[in-house]
Amino acid sequence: MEKVIDESQQGSALSLENKEKNGRKLYIESYGCQMNFSDSEIVASILAKEGFNTTQNLDDADLVLVNTCSIREKAEQTVRKRLEKFNAVKRTKPNMKVGVLGCMAERLKSKFLEEEKIVDMVVGPDAYKDLPNLIQEIDEGRNAVNVILSKDETYGDVAPVRLNTNGVSAFVSITRGCDNMCTFCVVPFTRGRERSRDPQSILEEVNDLWERGFKEITLLGQNVDSYLWYGGGLKKDFDKASDMQKATSVNFAGLLELVAQARPKMRIRFSTSNPQDMTLDVIEAMAKYENICKYIHLPVQSGSNRILKAMNRLHTREEYFELIDNIRKIIPDCAISQDMITGFPTETEEDHQDTLSLMEYVKYDFGFMFAYSERPGTLAERKMEDDIPEATKKRRLSEIIEVQQKHSHYRTQQHLGKTQEILVEGTSKKSDAHWMGRNSQNTVAVFPKEHYKVGDFVNVKINECTSATLIGEAVGYSENN
Ligand code: SAM
Repeated sequence: MEKVIDESQQGSALSLENKEKNGRKLYIESYGCQMNFSDSEIVASILAKEGFNTTQNLDDADLVLVNTCSIREKAEQTVRKRLEKFNAVKRTKPNMKVGVLGCMAERLKSKFLEEEKIVDMVVGPDAYKDLPNLIQEIDEGRNAVNVILSKDETYGDVAPVRLNTNGVSAFVSITRGCDNMCTFCVVPFTRGRERSRDPQSILEEVNDLWERGFKEITLLGQNVDSYLWYGGGLKKDFDKASDMQKATSVNFAGLLELVAQARPKMRIRFSTSNPQDMTLDVIEAMAKYENICKYIHLPVQSGSNRILKAMNRLHTREEYFELIDNIRKIIPDCAISQDMITGFPTETEEDHQDTLSLMEYVKYDFGFMFAYSERPGTLAERKMEDDIPEATKKRRLSEIIEVQQKHSHYRTQQHLGKTQEILVEGTSKKSDAHWMGRNSQNTVAVFPKEHYKVGDFVNVKINECTSATLIGEAVGYSENN
């Protein structure tokens, strides 16, 4: 199964419960990774206090914000097309203001204002608390920009509003930025250095979600395994922390345990893991707590040692296999998924075969696969030629997608005949008479609705499957209910 970013969510306009006294209308669209969608909830929360209600109707908007993604060139092209559309609307509504948020804002900075003249405001991912001042600037007729990256901003003190939620699962951000410096990746430049959020504020958010009826959370960060709280500040400055700060620090395994113990009936997921930072204590914590879901998203990007080195991934193929073996030994039923890039500079057919053989070894449950897209400012762009022809990238991509589909089907077949706990998220896309939910391994399951409802934990006997979906029948509530 090819798992791609949910296109139906891309660019969706988010709205929340309106406050009566709020007089201005905000239209906010989000693109890219889950972190961006989560950030838009923070932005909406900040602006609700500034008198803005959200709207899903562009024509009603006083302020249009686009939360943008720079990860691949195509993502940026999509946003540019939307900005052209907003500009056309602006010509008929001159009082409407347009702002760019997120990674493209950080990457292109004031270029949006000076050369392209298509927006009024440019705000980077660490500057959302400055939005009230920036909006005042544009209200007074000046352009506004704040793209300063922060050492300690985690928005831990902003209670995000849940936009377009199913009321069952929510994302809780735990780290911001990334220090890994993979040579293909723009994230360290657009989201800054890595810092972790205070565990106390994470627990408060989780408790609040539980009290409001949520049943599942995903702890979110570019590299969650690298989580390290020692009183605030950048991960890279941990060496300079006091002995007391070091002794009372909390790592990712510690955070997982804190959250799992605080809410034993809440499902806990996390994303994304990086192989070089994932430690055995995380896998052991997953095995120890029933409520931590048995699923790890573990991007590898390539199966070739030479390409892994050129990507600065800081682990070898053999070390990755060792990690996979440990996961399988400690949690035999754990699902594992990958991110893969085809056509990184200098990738040969032999490198590509190494990727295919790595996939054969792991037999991933899911995969997110991409053709290499050169990103300005990255080390790969500065030092290497983007020398693999588009047709070769695409052919290799379709080969790995084909192998992934085969493995996804193999993995869904392993669930056949078993009775598994499914958390009901909503109605199946294909049938109004069926619920859709997920098992602990994150595989989608559908079953007849009967008397069950959204948010129930239901034991479902799996009778059939496709490469993407388990099909079953309910046999009763799970003891979690
Ligand atoms: N932090 C995670 C990691 O690297 O392990 C994932 C971060 S990124 C938001 C999600 C995925 O986008 C990456 O895992 C990678 O597969 C893909 N990606 C990043 N930069 C890319 C590029 N220049 N071209 C193609 N795909 C890219």
